[in-house]
Amino acid sequence: MMSGKQIVGAVLWLLAAASPVGAGEGSLDSRRQVGDLAGEQPCHSGQAEWVLAMHGGVLTRPWHPKAEARKAAMAPILQRGGMAIEGGASALEVVAAVIVEMEDQGIFNAGSGAILNQAGEREMDASIMEGTTQMSGAVASIRKIKNPILGAKHVMEETDNVLFVGPAADSLLAAAGLELAELPTGGSDTRRAALGPPEETPLGTVGAVALDRCGDLAAGTSTGGFDSKIPGRVGDSPLVGAGTWASLTVAVSASGHGEYFIRYAAAHDIHARMAYGGRSLADAAGAVVSELFEKGGIGGVIALDRQGRVAMPHSTPGMLRGVVGANQALEVKAY
Ligand code: ASP
Repeated sequence: MMSGKQIVGAVLWLLAAASPVGAGEGSLDSRRQVGDLAGEQPCHSGQAEWVLAMHGGVLTRPWHPKAEARKAAMAPILQRGGMAIEGGASALEVVAAVIVEMEDQGIFNAGSGAILNQAGEREMDASIMEGTTQMSGAVASIRKIKNPILGAKHVMEETDNVLFVGPAADSLLAAAGLELAELPTGGSDTRRAALGPPEETPLGTVGAVALDRCGDLAAGTSTGGFDSKIPGRVGDSPLVGAGTWASLTVAVSASGHGEYFIRYAAAHDIHARMAYGGRSLADAAGAVVSELFEKGGIGGVIALDRQGRVAMPHSTPGMLRGVVGANQALEVKAY
């Protein structure tokens, strides 16, 4: 069952999605009324500051054939997400909605665009976390669910557990009524042909972090993993503390060589340096990414603190990343 706050968030998102790009104050007013009608006080009565940042994965070369298409896809999603948060939607709802849209694009390595493993199958990983409660949910190596991030959110909200994996996770989520993916049928060669030739640099993990007007942080990440991964391999993206983290201090979503992010608990390390070491967001996130690089792990993060400061360091030539906020004009960059 969705809570009142979640219903408000979902309705706000739908209204924002229906609004033309660049819609102004009028549409925000109508969203406010929706919140009132739902009998729930959405977050717009709280602080003025809000921020939404998203990433579409690290770019390991100075030029990537899909970078422009991915960048162009990110801007309107970011804009809709920003409008929803400004109107009072929660960080958690907007993080999930942004990632659903990216999963549905088919041009990122997540959801319908997820790359194939060595057996010619999609195995998808995702996680989501809310900062105030530190509630989290995750799925790994799932094949059948259309939007893995919604699988992760379902685990967080509807079970007492944090992580479900493999066919049992698919069955659990399918039984709960989550939409199934349209999978290419036939043998693995047929499936590969249906998806086109493998990319040379098949990156494009997606993630989002948000600070809402209640002051709550949230983070989420979704991926198909590394190209040609061995079946059953799971990276950092579904692991809370490695590829995703949200607390009262910071929200983080990572992309890169997952094994390193796991071994050094990268996302939580940013939290720890800030919470226990008194480091600033920029210092903590920058140091974690550059120290991972020194150890051999390429990658990047988007990180957001409760004051609305954003850091998006990466040790790769590029990282698709975008941000919008109450005091921050919408910006999407690849390099
Ligand atoms: N971190 C992901 C993984 O290791 C991949 C990526 O971000 O590109 O599965």
